[in-house]
Order: sequence, then C-alpha cells, then structure tokens
Amino acid sequence: MEKYVYSFGDGKAEGSADMKELLGGKGANLAEMSNLGIPVPPGFSISTDVCTYYYQHDDTYPDGLEDQVNKALKQVEKIMGKTFGDSEDPLLFSVRSGARASMPGMMDTVLNLGLNDESVKGLAKLADERFAWDSYRRFCSMFGDVVLGIRAEGKDEEDPFEVELQKIKNKYDARNDVDLNVDALKELVTQYKGIIKEKTGEPFPEDPRKQLWMAIGAVFGSWNNERAIAYREINNIPDEWGTAVNVQTMVFGNMGENSATGVAFTRNPATGENKFFGEYLPNAQGEDVVAGIRTPHPINKEDEVEGGPTSLETEMSEEYTQLLEIERKLEKHYKNMQDLEFTIQDGRLWMLQTRNGKRTALAAIRMAAEMVEEGLINKETAIMRVEDPEYLNQLLQPVFDPAQKQKALDAGRLLATGLPAGPGAASGRVVFNAPDAVDWQKRGEKVILVRIETSPEDIRGMNAAEGILTSRGGMTSHAALVARQMGKTCIVGCDDLEINYKKREMKVPGGKTIKEGDWISIDGSMGQVIDGQLETQPSEVVQVLIDESLSPDESKDFHIFNEFMKWADDVRKLGVRTNADQPDQARGAVRFGAEGIGLTRTEHMFFGGNRIDAVREMILADDTAGREKALEKLLPMQREDFQGIFEAMESRPVTVRTLDPPLHEFLPHGKDEIKDLAKKLKVSPDKIEAKIDALHEMNPMLGHRGCRLGIMYPEITRMQVRAIMEAACEVKKAGGDPHPEIMIPLVGNVQELKLQEKEVREVAEEVLKEKGVQVDYKVGTMIEIPRAALTADEIAEVAEFFSFGTNDLTQTTLGISRDDAGKFLPYYVEQKIYKKDPFAAIDQTGVGKLMQMGVDLGRKTRSDLKIGICGEHGGEPASVEFCHRIGLNYVSCSPFRVPIARLAAAQAVLKEKGVTA
Ligand code: ADP
Ligand code: MG
Ligand code: MG
Repeated sequence: MEKYVYSFGDGKAEGSADMKELLGGKGANLAEMSNLGIPVPPGFSISTDVCTYYYQHDDTYPDGLEDQVNKALKQVEKIMGKTFGDSEDPLLFSVRSGARASMPGMMDTVLNLGLNDESVKGLAKLADERFAWDSYRRFCSMFGDVVLGIRAEGKDEEDPFEVELQKIKNKYDARNDVDLNVDALKELVTQYKGIIKEKTGEPFPEDPRKQLWMAIGAVFGSWNNERAIAYREINNIPDEWGTAVNVQTMVFGNMGENSATGVAFTRNPATGENKFFGEYLPNAQGEDVVAGIRTPHPINKEDEVEGGPTSLETEMSEEYTQLLEIERKLEKHYKNMQDLEFTIQDGRLWMLQTRNGKRTALAAIRMAAEMVEEGLINKETAIMRVEDPEYLNQLLQPVFDPAQKQKALDAGRLLATGLPAGPGAASGRVVFNAPDAVDWQKRGEKVILVRIETSPEDIRGMNAAEGILTSRGGMTSHAALVARQMGKTCIVGCDDLEINYKKREMKVPGGKTIKEGDWISIDGSMGQVIDGQLETQPSEVVQVLIDESLSPDESKDFHIFNEFMKWADDVRKLGVRTNADQPDQARGAVRFGAEGIGLTRTEHMFFGGNRIDAVREMILADDTAGREKALEKLLPMQREDFQGIFEAMESRPVTVRTLDPPLHEFLPHGKDEIKDLAKKLKVSPDKIEAKIDALHEMNPMLGHRGCRLGIMYPEITRMQVRAIMEAACEVKKAGGDPHPEIMIPLVGNVQELKLQEKEVREVAEEVLKEKGVQVDYKVGTMIEIPRAALTADEIAEVAEFFSFGTNDLTQTTLGISRDDAGKFLPYYVEQKIYKKDPFAAIDQTGVGKLMQMGVDLGRKTRSDLKIGICGEHGGEPASVEFCHRIGLNYVSCSPFRVPIARLAAAQAVLKEKGVTA
C-alpha cells in the first residue's frame, strides 16, 4: 500500500526537509524541526500525491487514505493524551495547506477544528471561558470562509462575518476583538452559524470528523482557487505540483496574557542586516499578525518606540531567550535566512513554521555576502541566492528627487507615515481595490493600491500597482511580504489613515480627504506618504554607476552590489556586451560591467540635429551621384559619432551594424512636413509624395531593408564603413585602441554577404592606407533569417563573427509580426501555446533549435567563430542561460540589463554544476 500520510512531533518525524515535493515546504520543515528536537505541535502531513489523485479522480481520495489518517490521528492522540472530538478535553487541530514552493497566504488554513457546542464547554471548563468561545467564533468564521466559501462578493463588499463582528463590537461597546466578553462571543457564534445556515442551506457541522474531512477537501480545493492560480502564474510555479495538507495539534496564543503569537526573521528581510527581527501580538492567534488585524508589537527591546507597545523581550524574557536559541539553531541548520511562525501557549513556546524568508534584492546580496564571511555558505551558493537575476532591477529602481521631496515635506504635504515595508519610490493615482488597480493600469495609469490590509485575493492588483499602501499590518503582514518579493514599493501599518472603501476615499490626519484618482507618492524606504506627484531619480547604486565623479566608496549599497557582481564575473563564461548608440550610453554601460558593444544601430544617428535632412536628400536623389553627394554630408557626422563611441569603449570591441530599416521610415508623412522638406530641398511636394508612394511596402518587415539596401545602394554601405574606419584611425592615432566589428544585417544567403563584404573590405583597406595606421577590424553578419541559420556553414566561409538578431529571427521563424501580435499573442501565452512571450524569452524549442544549428554549422566551417546575440533576449535570464548552454561567446543587452545578464550568466554555469541556492 502506498504511503500517503507522514507523522511528525514529539522529537521525531517520518519526513524531512528534503521531502518538499511530497510533503510541501511547510510539512517537510515541520518534520525537520521535529527531528531537530525543536518543540513542534504533533500532527501529520497528507502528501501532494493525494492532491494529484484528488484532481484526477473527481475530488475523491485513494484507497487506504482514511485508514492512514486514522492511524496518524491515534498517534497524535497518544502523544497529547487527548481525544479528537472529546467533549470533556478536546484535541483540536489546524488544517494547513503547504505546497512545494511557499505561496504565502495563497491557499487556505483552518484553525481550532474539532470545536462544537459540546466541546466548547469542555474547553471552557479546562481553560478559560472567554478563550474557549473566542476560539469557537474564530473557527466558525474560518470554516465558513475557507471550507464553505462564504465571503465578500463584490469588490466594495465586506466580508459577512466581518460585518457581523462589527455589529457585535458596537453593541457591546468593544474597541478591539480582545474587548469582547463571553456573552458577546456567544452571540457571535450564534450569528455566525445563522449566516452559515442561510448561505449554504445546511447547518454548521457539529461532527469533528466531518469537519476534518471537509477541511481537508477545502485545502486541496484551494490549490485551484483564483488567487493561487494567479500567484502561480506570476511566479512561474507549475500547476501540476499540488499542495500537501498538514493536520496539526492546535496550540493557543489566545489563552490569556501568558500567551502570544508571532512571526520573525532570522535577519532583516528588507535590509539584510544580521539582526533577529520580528513582531508579535499578546493573547492572539497566528492569523492576526499576518492578516494585519492589529498592528503588532516588536519582538526586540531595542525596536520599542517611546509610548509604543512593549516587546516580547520585555514581556516574556524567558520565552524570548528560548526563541533566540531556536532561531540561531535553525539558521545554522538551513544556512539561510529563516522566516518563522511561533506561538506561546501559557508560557510554553511552540514553533509552527520555518522557511527560507523572502527578501529584497539588496538584502539577498548582503545576507549572501555576510554568510560567506561567516563561513556559513561558499561564494557559489551566494551567487545563487539572488534567486531570479531580475530582482537586481530593484537596486536599479529610482528614488525620489531629494530636493523636490524636501520641498514637499516643508510645504506640509506629508500625509502620514507608516512602516517602510518595501523600499523604493512610487507616485501614482489612488485606487482602493485590486480589480480597479488592474483596470487602471491596463489603460496606462500609474496607480497606488490603498487597502486597509491586503489579502491574497489582491495579488493581481498588487502586481499592477506602482506601490502599495495599507493602514493596518506590520512588516510581516501579507502586503509587506508580497511587496518585497515583487520588488514593489510598499508602506504598511499606516494607521492614521481612515480608509472608506464604499466612498472610495481616505481621511488623513489634519482633516484632508484623498479621493480615488488623486495623486500620492510613497517613499517605501522611509515610510512616508506624500500628497501629489514627485519626480524620481536614479537609485544610489545607479547614481554611482553612471556618475563618474562619484567614488564607489561613497555608497554602501553600491559597495555590496559591486563585490557581489565581481564574484559572478569570476564564475561566468559568457561575455556580456551592451547595445548602445551614443558615447554616454556606452560609458554608462561600461560602468554597469559591459565588456564591449554588441550592437550599435547606425540609424538612430540619422535622426539627430539636421542630419535627417541629409538622409532625406539621399533618399530622394535620382541617381548614384545625387546619393553620393548627400552621403558626403553625412560622413563627417557619422565619423564623429563613432569616434565618441570608440573613445568611450577604449580597447573593448564595438560591433556596428550597417543601415537596417527600410528607407521610408526616414521620410516625413504629414502634409506640412512634406511642404517644409520640399522647400528645404528645393523640389516640389509632388515629387516627395511620389517618392513616398514608390517606397510604400505591403510588408515592410520583409521588404527592402537590411543588407538589401546596401546591395541596391552600395554607396550607403561604403559611406558608413568609411565613417567607421576613419573614426577608428583617428582614435588609434590619438593613442586609443579601437576594435571595430562591422556587421551586415538581414543576410539570408552567403552571396549577399559576399557582395557586402567586398565593399566593406575595399573601403576599409583604402582608409587604412590613406591614414597610414593599422586597425584590427572584423567583418561579420547577423543571423536573423532562418535561411542564414540553415546555411550557417556557407555563411561562416565569409563571416568572421555571427550575432543572432533574435527579434527578427523570432518574427521570421514564427511567422509572427511583433507589431501585430498584440491581438492574439497574449491569449496564446494565457493558453500556454507558447509558455512565455517569445519576444521576451527565446522560444528555445523552435528559434533555439535554429540558433543551435547556426552555432554548430558555423563552427564546423570556422572553429574559432565568435558568436553573440544582440536581440532583446540578451538580457532575459532564461535566454541568457540558454545562450550559455549552446556555446555563445557573449550576450548583448541594454545597459540597465547588463548586471542582470552578468548574474544570469554566472548562475547558468553554477546550475550546470548542480549548485543550488
Ligand atoms: P500560511 O501558509 O498562510 O502562513 P499557515 O498554515 O501557516 O498558513 O497558518 C496560518 C496561521 O495560523 C499562521 O499564523 C499559523 O501560525 C497559525 N497556525 C497554524 N497552525 C497552527 C496551530 N497548530 N496552532 C496554532 N496556530 C496555528
Ligand atoms: Mg504560515
Ligand atoms: Mg534585425
């Protein structure tokens, strides 16, 4: 008989931390903690296999499961010396979800299961009457919500249980939940049961076993609730994994003043500082901290603020010390920052969860670096600790312009302050619910999502918002956790805000009211909410990167970042270049770590200043002589551009692509513009219009562009090569060391390349002779037409290098025009026809196969062929990894993506070696 149920508790367990696939992260770690002798309430995990079975067999369970559950239950009863469903001294359970990857709050958990009208009395007698009824009313509402699906329906609606709670609070004049007396709680239970009967037509189930199996079914069912699906989509978690179910003995943090519940991190998840950090609530159950019902108290004495609540360290110093010991032990054991849940029941500490904690990018880097110093992990592991290289974007994200912000503060525009939960700066228009955030963002608005607290339902809205602001909850609340992971700016626990969902407005201290659509700005590093819109500027790291006058030592953030990136550079095999057309861009990219330019697009240079006139003159010319005359004017301008770039790149290689876009892109379109141009060039507007008509193409992407221009008008290529080579000679003469690589676009047939190569070499040699210097230059081609990849062996006879132009290669391989794909491609991705947008991440099975073929065939002819990629994909982590695997020499991407590509390239090497985070 297959094993479906794994017990834990009492200092031992059937599972362990490496069984996450089967037991889910929560179950595996509960087992691991038990094995480590850490106090964990006993229980058992039902494996993810059962979840898979459940979905494949119309929500039914495999044979033998019930027996195994009963056996495990008995064992827990034995350890606890209590009986499940007993009316005198009841054993109660929590039924908790837990997938392989942590999905905080996305699926469901039921607490206090096993209570009914009889056992509540038993519990009252044994412990305390108020506590018993408090637990019972919590169970009724959680069971109603999670298991029976009774919750708020519309987006402005409130949860029916919450509405009832408010009514009773008003009736009994209770400010907080803890002020509700026994009578109030009893009344609440009656009302809750009424809601359940009314909404489902069935009475509340009093039978504990029935409750248990209903809850187990609900947890399995929650794997496919809307928010869990959304979370998986955003975080690329496979639908097939399924969740485990953990059934665990309840421990009570709400048993009175000697009880508490909390959440803690072994290091600070926002900054990475090596300091235990956490929050707790006295006399409360776990959900209260995470859901932000009350703003929690600090754990450490030193985090107490004057007049604020006292810390766990002050209130329960013995339990605090024990918690510290456990926290150290766990971090040492897992060699990673842990995110912990604990509960103290009547002076006794219990651990309820541990997992690797979510963190900001800066925190990830800092922790990894410090753990290397502490000897906890090695550098290779450290590099894997930034789990997605995209996270580096957070460090590159803008901050508010400090002068403008100060001005706003001086002008009294500070609306409120809260807890700085997700660093960064964001300005946007206020919306009060997640669906609105999604809608507004879709129509191009920047929004700040303002909520009393967020719940997992809000995940899509949070993703759509620039920033998130809540009036309740602490640094460990749902909003804070999710924001940090998404890299969103976030402020929580801003309890001065009076948010009214129905009226879609919030009152701020001082009487001002902010309405839906009003602009606010939030500083997630300082916790400040500011009225109106503020300008942003580059982050500290970016400032040091782009401003050559700043010393890197001035910024601690930069220093941490830079050291970490050096480790990555030591590991990676792929080179990283940048796509840049201007000297300042090129210089910036070098500071970001670019080792060369993989693509300079010459056409961008055609637009600056009055160059466009010369370009148009060239296009309108009737013959070669006319074109040459116009090109003559362009030559010095292009030469100057290249000179600047060669100087900026010093001895690094610079790949320059000859003219690529179709000529009609350079001509004016509006009537007035045409008239102006006609006047300037002293021709009739009719002539210009005739030319525009003549150049019109049905299908410009496949039209007269790329090397087809240079073949029809060799003088264009010749002028460009002259400009490149003259610039290189100038720089060389001045003591520089330029390495131009001239790249011919859109080649599909080796004959095309031969014709262009002849022009290039002729002019290049001519210039070198004229100038009397030696410059090392190369001639190569882009591989961006399927035929080029298919005949790469022939093309490599001529080309000294290849560069995959994966934008065009994707368009031509898939037969999809990127500019027209908007109507169907998003749906394709939703339907998983393509798993990811093929224009964002390389379609490895299709386009990738052509690339592999291009590499193999090319190197068959020319074993030392240098091969790179210069499409948009060159900065996308999965594509970078792919490029590493097929043996490219380098990737090239936009300057801001250079650090991401460097890290992705290092991780690609380590993944091959089997190194994990
Ligand atoms: P999530 O994955 O959303 O964090 P959990 O299963 O961890 O869900 O449970 C939610 C809350 O309930 C947590 O705060 C947890 O500490 C608390 N909780 C879960 N099981 C128990 C238990 N056996 N005793 C007391 N509190 C519990
Ligand atoms: Mg939890
Ligand atoms: Mg192209």
